[in-house]
Parts: sequence; C-alpha cells; structure tokens
Amino acid sequence: MIGVTSLPDHTLLIDGSWRPASDGGTRTIACPADGSPVGTVAEATPEDATAAVLAARRAFDEGPWPLTPAPERAALLRRLADRLVAEKETVARAESLDTGKRMVESRIDVDDIEAVFRHFADLASADAGRVVDTGMPDVSSRVVHEPVGVCSLITPWNFPLLQTSWKVAPALAAGNTFVLKPSELTPHTSIWLVRALEEEGLPPGVANLVLGAGSVLGPVLTGHQAVDLVSFTGGVVTGRAIMAAAAPTVKRVALELGGKNPNVIFEDADLPAAIDNALTAVFLDSGQVCSAGTRLVVQESIRDEVVETLVARAEGIRLGGPFDEHAEAGPLISEAHREKVATYVREAIEDGAVLRCGGGPPEDPELADGWFYRPTVLDRCTQDMRCVHDESFGPVLTVETFSGTGDEAEDAAVAIANDTIYGLAGAVWTQNAGRAERVARRLRHGTIWINDYHPYVPGAEWGGYKQSGVGRELGLAGLAEYRESKHIWHNTRPAPAGWFEVREEQA
Ligand code: NAD
Repeated sequence: MIGVTSLPDHTLLIDGSWRPASDGGTRTIACPADGSPVGTVAEATPEDATAAVLAARRAFDEGPWPLTPAPERAALLRRLADRLVAEKETVARAESLDTGKRMVESRIDVDDIEAVFRHFADLASADAGRVVDTGMPDVSSRVVHEPVGVCSLITPWNFPLLQTSWKVAPALAAGNTFVLKPSELTPHTSIWLVRALEEEGLPPGVANLVLGAGSVLGPVLTGHQAVDLVSFTGGVVTGRAIMAAAAPTVKRVALELGGKNPNVIFEDADLPAAIDNALTAVFLDSGQVCSAGTRLVVQESIRDEVVETLVARAEGIRLGGPFDEHAEAGPLISEAHREKVATYVREAIEDGAVLRCGGGPPEDPELADGWFYRPTVLDRCTQDMRCVHDESFGPVLTVETFSGTGDEAEDAAVAIANDTIYGLAGAVWTQNAGRAERVARRLRHGTIWINDYHPYVPGAEWGGYKQSGVGRELGLAGLAEYRESKHIWHNTRPAPAGWFEVREEQA
C-alpha cells in the first residue's frame, strides 16, 4: 500500500462524494520498479463517468464557482501551492511509487507543479478583459472573459501530476468545472490533488475524479453533450480519436500529443556540453518524456567523436528504483510498454540501424522484477526507417548525420529535423550565434532550445506544431483555451434601428 497518504476509502469523487465504482470494480496499482502493490483504487464505469459529467454540469450551471471573484479563485490556487510545499515528500513518494521514477525527479516535479499553480493564480487575479473604443459617446463596447464550462481533463502516466496541473490550474483559474481522468496506471497523485482542492474549499461538483481505462471512459468524457471542452495529453493515435469523438458536439479541443524531437549538433558546438545534454535529452526519465531528444542529428565530421562518447556514457548509466540514491534512471512504466520499446528496437535493427549499446533489459538480478530497459543507441539511421519517425517513448536514441559546410549544412540539418509528422520540441547546438538563430527559426517544432535541452518556465508557451498538438496556450502560457471571450455592446441611448419603414397601420 501507498503507506504515506491516508487515501479516502473510495477513490472516485463525484458531486462532492467519495464513492466506489458503481459495479464495485477495482484495479491494483503496481510499482514499475519491482512490481510491488502500491494501492487498490476504484475502476469507474461509463455510468460513473456520466454521473461525474452531469455533476460538473450542475456545478457549472447552478453553482457558485464560475461567478466566484477571480481573486478568490486565485487564493484557492495559492493555498493548493502552499500544500504542495507542506506535503512535498508525500506527493513525490506517491508519484514515484506509481511511476517507478526516482524520488529526486518526483521532487523536482512537485516544485514545478507548485510553480504552475502559482502562475495560474497570478493570471487569474490579473484578468481584467478589455475595453474597445466605439467612437460613440453613448455606446460602450467591451470584451469580458468567461469560463468555457465543463472540461474533461485526460492525462498520461509519465508526469502524472505535472500534466494534470497544467490542466486543472488553468481550468479552475478561469472558473470552469471539470472531470479529471488520470492514466489508469498512475492515479494516486490525482486522488491527492482533488482531495486537497476539496479540503481547501472548492465547492462540491467543481472537481470530479474518475479512474479507469480510457477506452471505457473516453467515449463519455469526449462525446457527452454536457462537456464543453476536452483537454488531453497523450499519444497521437488517442488524440485523433478524441478529436473525432468531440466533433459531433463541436467541443473545444486542446491536445498535447507526442514528439519525435531532433537534437541537432553542428561541428562548431561546445561538444562536451552538447554530448552531456544529449544524454539528458533522451535518457531522462528513461525516455518517457514527450519532448525527449530522441533523434540525434549530428554533422558527419564529428559523428565518431560524438557517438563514441555517447555510447560509452550511456553504457555507464546506473538504473534503479525510486529510493536507490545511486540510480540515474528508472524503469519503464509497464511490461507492455517495455515490450513496445523492445519491438521498436528489433524493427530498427531489421531496417538496418546499428545497435551500439543497450537493446534489452539489464542483467542485474536486483532489477529483474522491474520493467527496466538499458539506455540504447541506434547508429546509422536514415529517414526511410520507421525508428526515426515513430515514437518509442523509451530510452532509445537514433543517430542520423548531415554533411556539407555553411548554408548547405544548415539546409541539410533542417531538412532532416523537420521530416516528421510531429513538431513538439527540438534543440540546436552551435557556437555560431547567427546559425543558432537561423536554424531555431526554421525548425518546425513548438519549443526550441539553443545550446540547452529540456528547461521551461511557467509563462512560456508549450505546445506542438503539426501532429504534436492543438492549442498552443494549453500548458503554461495563459488561460485562452479555458475561457470564452464575450463582446458586450452597451447602447445607453436605445433608439429604433430605422432599417424598415414603420407603416401607418403598424405604428
Ligand atoms: P495514451 O494516449 O495511451 O493515454 C493518455 C490518456 O488517455 C490516459 O489517461 C488514457 O487512459 C486515456 N485514453 C486512452 N484512450 C482514450 C480514448 N479513446 N478516449 C479518451 N481517453 C483515452 O498515452 P500514454 O501512453 O498514457 O502517454 C504517452 C503519450 O503521451 C506519448 O505519446 C507522449 O508523447 C504523450 N505526451 C505528450 C505530452 C505533451 O506535452 N505533448 C506530455 C506527456 C506525454
């Protein structure tokens, strides 16, 4: 059992009451690092999801939350941030047990989540709408912001509470109500979150939590007439299905999908920094990061030096569970996911990629019960191979090269880096400032790091180009996705419009 939080007896929160699933179903969560049981949670039915949607609808249509003054909404978000500080170890531990990730990473995630809540609290209290000049003394015109309504918030397992905070914080800041469905593999920190919101005074029915499989609950959450907005983070295949399910009722849809992110290294880069960051780019969280730098695009002249060093260092990465202080990377999320990664590597080798390191689970018997996979480098990859186009979502780096000098080299690097259906993130490494700016502008990806990889700040945009997503503002930039803008025209001297003649008999 989770041991560190006293979870409610029942783990669905619907209309302000904690309930079991309507058919009594449950799911046992296992820690991916060693398979040990972490907890048992309710497994919701479609009827439970419908009840949650209707509760959120009532709370929006009849409840106080959408009309609560923005400073009060902001204050609640700040109290939540304070709780994250006070309960940091509890939350980090719950996250690590569900995901298997190292405590050090979970603690960083909790700090990031706290910053997200504070950021959206600031945005909520700064929200004033705007006045538009009509040029007419008796008429005023203004734009006001209003919440969208009922939001279905559907999140993945890789950064469970961080991804959830990117949705819950702006949804609440803007005055919406919601149904949250975290990944069925990692529910515990979402349970913590909605309970904390409830205890901080969020009115009943504003936050609803359903747990269970997306294939079962998804049709309700993405298709029900009473839902106004679906905000989803996950894989592109699921994203396409959600967009289709939301179309008949024309819901607002915000999608944060996958990535196949190029990390471009030119021969004029600071190589020690570039190589060290290339490791972090792809092997952080065992590659289970949407923005992971999984495609190394390196200039041919430095390929040997870069690849040899990367391989030597990748082979030395220490794997271990959440509480192993010497571990540098954790397990994959599940047996099925490890099998997916293994299949991807097998197919890459069949297609002609050269396996330089990794390519299977570690031999250490102490790790045998977890879903570990060794950091893997696939050299000699080309654009016709599936491995450079499909997301493995594991610790697998593909290496491609480009040649030439000057503009020719830039053109070649950009062509390879942009040859993907995805457009989430990427990086360019060069000490030539002009080249850095030119290439950064030409890369068709939503976040570009120059001589760095992975950092972000609340307030910057996050979102994908192309099939990596819909809705640039969703993550961290603002509240636009979660509110409607209403134009109010106020004529203080009403008068007949005068378009149609008033005939005698009608007067
Ligand atoms: P997934 O698409 O399998 O599942 C994500 C969520 O959707 C889960 O809660 C799941 O239960 C639910 N779901 C599944 N089918 C559904 C359906 N038909 N209707 C509604 N909901 C459904 O993704 P995953 O395996 O949990 O996460 C990994 C993926 O997430 C990767 O592709 C990764 O790139 C992506 N991701 C993207 C970002 C980003 O910011 N762009 C961040 C994190 C993860």
